[in-house]
Amino acid sequence: MSTVRDLLVEGVAALTASGSESPRLDAEVLLAHALGIERTGLIAHPGAEIGTAQAETFRRSIARRTTGEPVAYIRGVKEFYGIAFATDARALIPRPETELLVELAEREAIDRLVGAARPGDGARLRIVDVGTGAGTIAVTLAVLLRRRGAAGDVTILATDASAEAIALARENAVGHGVADAVDFAQADLIPARDGPFDLLLANLPYVRTDAIPGLPIAASFEPRAALDGGSDGLDIVRRILQRLPDALAPGGVALLEIGFDQGDDIREAVETILPGWTSTVLKDLAGQPRVARIARVAGIARGAGAEGAAA
Ligand code: GLN
Repeated sequence: MSTVRDLLVEGVAALTASGSESPRLDAEVLLAHALGIERTGLIAHPGAEIGTAQAETFRRSIARRTTGEPVAYIRGVKEFYGIAFATDARALIPRPETELLVELAEREAIDRLVGAARPGDGARLRIVDVGTGAGTIAVTLAVLLRRRGAAGDVTILATDASAEAIALARENAVGHGVADAVDFAQADLIPARDGPFDLLLANLPYVRTDAIPGLPIAASFEPRAALDGGSDGLDIVRRILQRLPDALAPGGVALLEIGFDQGDDIREAVETILPGWTSTVLKDLAGQPRVARIARVAGIARGAGAEGAAA
């Protein structure tokens, strides 16, 4: 029978040969997954003997990983904001850089719920997550607001163009006990019947088409439509900017995730598409531009200055 140590040696060798950048870590994570234990358990018990069924599960995982498939798809789970998200090829894997957007969204929501900007008597704060993918932003925000006892004060709509992504997002909402707090709609950006919203949140595809082949091989297992943002990466982001005059309620705010090198481009796009609106680019924990906060300047009539706004 193989021990933990034997299997790790075998897995590390296979992953190293395949060109993996983190063979040891990946082997440990995948062995812990096969055994249903924490990774620290392996380190504590290197001599423990492993049954053949579990060894086979581990070997199958290693074989998948040697093709470049992301560990998150093999395990079927990825941690985001301290929450375990179900992940598979139906949607983009939740990324740590998106935690900034969730943190900002929670703050915007709470400010509105306790502050003067609170929607009229009894009205609930309307939030939309456009292009929800695995449900990452909508479900996390629903969990955070529920913890604060604010779930009853908001409505959250999560949209995606992909029916498969919506199905996965629903599973995550159910898994985290917020299925009643999040509505889902399959739509190109936002269904025409919905809105306006107080908060519009989106991690849309923003990778430049010509940068896609240079992404880590793991990204080639993710839906291309979740990454490819066209020639300068901002095709879809521009389309959502065009929708903002109608999609945002007075005092509403959009928080859009962007690439680290798109800070100037997004400010320029906002000036062109939404003259008179404000945009602020916020940095993530790595100090990189990551979220654009876009708002109508008070006093400008709804729809004004939105030449060519899509219906
Ligand atoms: N941050 C992601 C990446 O570069 C891109 C996510 C996106 O396009 N929304 O892998």
